[in-house]
Amino acid sequence: MTKIAMKTPLVEMDGDEMTRIIWQMIKDELICPFVDLKTEYYDLGLENREATGDQVTVDSAEATKRLGVAVKCATITPNAARMDEYHLSNMWKSPNGTIRAILDGTVFRAPIVVKGIEPYVRTWKKPITIARHAYGDVYKNTELRIPAPGKVELVYTPADGGEEVRATVQEFDQPGIAQGIHNLDASIASFARASFEYALSTSQDIWFASKDTISKTYDHRFKDIFQEIFDQEYKERFEKAGITYFYTLIDDAVARVIRSEGGFIWACKNYDGDVMSDMLSTAFGSLAMMTSVLVSPHGYFEYEAAHGTVQRHYYKHLAGEETSTNSVATIFAWTGALRKRGELDELPELVAFADRLEQATIATIEAGKMTGDLAAITTLENPTKLNTRDFIMAVAGRLQA
Ligand code: NAP
Ligand code: MG
Repeated sequence: MTKIAMKTPLVEMDGDEMTRIIWQMIKDELICPFVDLKTEYYDLGLENREATGDQVTVDSAEATKRLGVAVKCATITPNAARMDEYHLSNMWKSPNGTIRAILDGTVFRAPIVVKGIEPYVRTWKKPITIARHAYGDVYKNTELRIPAPGKVELVYTPADGGEEVRATVQEFDQPGIAQGIHNLDASIASFARASFEYALSTSQDIWFASKDTISKTYDHRFKDIFQEIFDQEYKERFEKAGITYFYTLIDDAVARVIRSEGGFIWACKNYDGDVMSDMLSTAFGSLAMMTSVLVSPHGYFEYEAAHGTVQRHYYKHLAGEETSTNSVATIFAWTGALRKRGELDELPELVAFADRLEQATIATIEAGKMTGDLAAITTLENPTKLNTRDFIMAVAGRLQA
């Protein structure tokens, strides 16, 4: 059998723990037998981030600017426990945070809907896609531990030598903590445009929410920019397409989402999107069934699974125990990247292969063969719970057929 040829390589960002194991299996069993895979490989595993002083993460993002399409494995974001576990010299920042800061853009997350995995929320009939702003806020913050009484201020020093502006954050009379965050008008505007464009291209309504009543300057700026861009650039196109833009407060949005039927895009600020996408993916069935793509305003795409490195399963794997880790979202990260590469390079066979691999994955589950997370919640009768490798081999079997 001749393999499908590629033109431009994908940027391949390898990662950590159980997802690193799955990553290799997907390449070996589901892709390389069919595609003459070309990638530029970056090892974002924590050991190599430590060895390179995290330069590899920056390099992989720069490569994405050059090549256009990346596929990323889940990676560990170090915390105090990981400092000891991996003997780190530095608590390296979240690779996703670093990559998003370099590429800018918006993350779209949509659940993979299959027959037999029903949402926990009875009223949900259609998928809910989260559009997560991927720049700034708490992910690019500066934090201070305040050890003793003293004053914390925000200071703006104009580059043109104009007058300094100061605002008191807090007069501390005791120890505490403080945080500085920022965002950029241009980034918020591209977030708004990306969200409106995605709504048009998928013919779905779009919601946006923030806490503008409390955050009268910061969050309010988001609300204003969305409204200005909508009124100036999208109002008529939305009317023609029969879709709507709806703004409300974030807590009201959360309540309405639960009562909704689904079938819309929910644009979220960075932190809201982080939290709400985990809530939605679990409510739609499993965290392992959520796809994720970072779309930058410059036309770069980075595909990944929405879940983490599945640490608990990895320790079982290391202990020689059998695991049943769901590889679906990681498979869809690869198909998303291959399809986009195929579209950009005008390789219809590569696009068709991506479609076939997705169909084989869905058909495997709908035939009752699935990993433990899905077997525990499926409405199909007598599902077969497969281990990590056997699920991937079952998909491979369908793909061969
Ligand atoms: P996680 O890896 O997403 O896993 C949380 C739990 O969700 C798992 O213990 C498992 O539940 C279930 N789960 C998630 N993915 C699954 C899959 N594919 N198949 C089956 N079950 C799955 O989150 P975490 O344990 O909080 O974080 C682990 C590491 O991942 C951390 O170091 C974190 O920094 C990193 N992380 C990375 C990313 C990223 O790179 N995008 C995102 C989030 C977290 P059971 O244990 O009950 O089976
Ligand atoms: Mg999250």
